[in-house]
Amino acid sequence: MNHAQPIPAPRADEAEVAARVAATVRADVRSLTAYHVPKADGMVMLHANENPHPLPAALRRTIAAAVARVGLNRYPDGAGDAVKAALAAALPVPQGAAIVLGNGSDELIQVLTTAVARPGAAVLSPEPTFAMYRIYARQSGVPYVAVPLRADFALDEDAMLAAIARERPALVWLASPNNPTGRRAGTASIERILAAAPGVVVVDEAYADFGDASLLPRVLEFPNLVVLRTLSKVGLAGARLGYAVAHPAWIAEFDKVRSPYNVNALTQAVAPVVLAAADVLSEQVAAIRAERQALAEALAARPGVTVVPSDANFLLVRVPDADAWFERLKERRILVKNFNGSHRALENCLRITVGTPAENRALLAALDETT
Ligand code: PMP
Repeated sequence: MNHAQPIPAPRADEAEVAARVAATVRADVRSLTAYHVPKADGMVMLHANENPHPLPAALRRTIAAAVARVGLNRYPDGAGDAVKAALAAALPVPQGAAIVLGNGSDELIQVLTTAVARPGAAVLSPEPTFAMYRIYARQSGVPYVAVPLRADFALDEDAMLAAIARERPALVWLASPNNPTGRRAGTASIERILAAAPGVVVVDEAYADFGDASLLPRVLEFPNLVVLRTLSKVGLAGARLGYAVAHPAWIAEFDKVRSPYNVNALTQAVAPVVLAAADVLSEQVAAIRAERQALAEALAARPGVTVVPSDANFLLVRVPDADAWFERLKERRILVKNFNGSHRALENCLRITVGTPAENRALLAALDETT
């Protein structure tokens, strides 16, 4: 198994391979571009909405011990029951609600889209929002209807209700707080959307820990609500664990669509340990929220900069020249996300993840040098 030296191997003709791919893979898939993940080695990473704080050393040792006990020769528990129990113990999951786990909530977006993608179904979401809703709709061959947010990135409830009445979507995505805007939808608006929607409404609460509103405790109150969450933003992005909570009748169907062992044994061993140390994560979340406030004020004090109020762990900022800012920060080894050119409403917008105090200082110092 040790191939230190590359072994010359017979290769099919390149043109022949290209022709076979073109003749076989769906044209709409070939026309897609793969989701771009920039290489960030050695950079200050303020582009991916991660928690910038590593887990404390003592917790890492407990994790290492839990990982050492995993029988990697065996398949993981297909249902992930220990993880579900740990989630139910750590979070306000109402009794009687069911949970499905995903390899990140990304996978569950794909699972839910696949589950509803019958002929004639449509998927609807406010925009700008998380790109994967549209991407998975396209992959599943269902029309994706985008309803513009208001100019201040607030949810346009009237436009949403009108579009729901017109399109009768099978699935409505509501990221709240929303990515990349950071704004959350009002609870009363979500309730009216739930009442109007003929199909399922998924409230994607990936960033809910950084705000003060969640529908998780009320998930059984509505016949068509799914709450989607993830451990990625609170500190376990590398473990890839997302979960959807809903009435068992919904979850039973989604369970049929996911692959059998979609959450690996290492993640299943680690997640309960981290969830049992909820105080560690909530301290980090509180620190990020405090830093968010300080960073927002420092950025807003700069000429020509507007900061969108945020309930998430990032700030959407409109600057005089986003492309130039992005490049200058990158030269100083600071990576943020540039949305300029991606959507009409996001002209000259950068999304900046709230980093550690030192990272945020580095960002502000780099801006002092360059603007
Ligand atoms: N939903 C939203 C709104 C997000 O911003 C993201 C991550 N960018 C996800 C879901 C997916 O997160 P993950 O797959 O890491 O759980």
